[in-house]
Amino acid sequence: MTDWPNDARAAVAFTFDFDAEEVWIGEDPANADRPGILSQGTYGAKVAVPLVLELLRRRELRATFFIPGRVAERHTGRVDEIAAAGHEIAHHGYTHTSPTKLSREEEEAELVKGREVLEGFGVEVRGYRSPSWDFSEHTLSLLETHGFAYSSNLMDDIRPYRHNGSSLVEVPIQWILDDAPHFWFDPSTWTKKISTVEEVRSIWEHEVLGIIDLGGAAILTCHPQIIARPGRVGFLEEFIAFVQGLDEVWVATTGEIAELAT
Ligand code: ZN
Repeated sequence: MTDWPNDARAAVAFTFDFDAEEVWIGEDPANADRPGILSQGTYGAKVAVPLVLELLRRRELRATFFIPGRVAERHTGRVDEIAAAGHEIAHHGYTHTSPTKLSREEEEAELVKGREVLEGFGVEVRGYRSPSWDFSEHTLSLLETHGFAYSSNLMDDIRPYRHNGSSLVEVPIQWILDDAPHFWFDPSTWTKKISTVEEVRSIWEHEVLGIIDLGGAAILTCHPQIIARPGRVGFLEEFIAFVQGLDEVWVATTGEIAELAT
């Protein structure tokens, strides 16, 4: 069992993947010329991040923002605001491209460039979340070589752990605690309905309470452009308040949780 601070029996982190336009460009570079598609991501920078920052301020909660380098270059002011509010900033690729689509050299260049851009905001970047949660055969060794403290990508546990023979910590995630599988609408297929907040509230409450019962760390993964739609942002605030009201639960950043791995 992990020993959590303040006699807590479990931990919860709220993380935000600030993908903005890059999630569509990473999927298909031709989208870079399609303003209609990209506008879905622009909403994230223009409207959603301010709403998220405001509610985090109200709830006095520090979160972790995983940000692609190119998003930080395009939306400098927003990243300044995230850093100024004291949130943790972590790596989410330079472009939003899955490492599985890159050569070792390209993947390393993304790691170096992405961190350089983020550290330009005066923050220390210790964590890495792949754009897709997918690893190439080189990802782990590159993260070690470049001195990352933790990864938040794998789904094989409910507690942080150290990768074998490495100082690199894994802070495990899962699709069930991600907003995208529940709320994402894919206009190319129209096969999946958009979930209601009531459905997601029920799914998240059960999973978070289950992880707490087992003494683990529940890592919520949200995307500003998805969770901060007008009909959902109130739900996010209520859910944060619900978690903050639970007994013996330590609400922390992903980086703080990673420090406790044994
Ligand atoms: Zn992403």
